[in-house]
Amino acid sequence: MTTGDEGHTASPARTCAGCRGIDAKAGLLRFVVAPVPPFLIPDVSDKLGGRGVSVHPTRKCLEAAVRRGGFAKVLKRAVPVGTDELARLAAEQYTRRAESLLVAARRANVIAVGTDAVREALREGKVAALVVAADAAGRREELEQSAERLGKRCVVLGTKASLGQLFGRDEVGVAAVLDAGIASALTRAAARALALLEAE
Ligand SMILES: [Zn+2]
Repeated sequence: MTTGDEGHTASPARTCAGCRGIDAKAGLLRFVVAPVPPFLIPDVSDKLGGRGVSVHPTRKCLEAAVRRGGFAKVLKRAVPVGTDELARLAAEQYTRRAESLLVAARRANVIAVGTDAVREALREGKVAALVVAADAAGRREELEQSAERLGKRCVVLGTKASLGQLFGRDEVGVAAVLDAGIASALTRAAARALALLEAE
């Protein structure tokens, strides 16, 4: 018998400090140990070195890691880490990541911004993911329905003002990402931000 497939995996396995489940590294969020509060820093972009602990990026697993001592074990001391604060910090990082992906899409010219441009991109079948501001009214539902009919992902991200800032406009209620790779990274980051902020 050979085990020739071993070492083939791009993403090594890690254990979640919350549910103790084993998952691919890419499916978990690593927190890095810090000497000062909040003592654990989320490392969404996977760039920080040092001692760390991995958790599924969900409210439930964060809570379990706090409650069952999964974090304390890695910190090697009992420190007050709050689920709410850790979840908020991680959700903020995922939101920033989603925003920087929108900026990247803009630079690569693979984005449609505003109702008219999005509607045209939908008509032409170019949309990979639809992004709507949480406070966008009016055309939002109509566009979401069209996108869903086409089997495209819809992401709720930020506000009209915060989306506007990314595109150098006062307000943007809706945008469409036209690149499949950027769209999938964006929807994943936005979904994780939501999962972290979700109440029990
Ligand atoms: Zn877990």
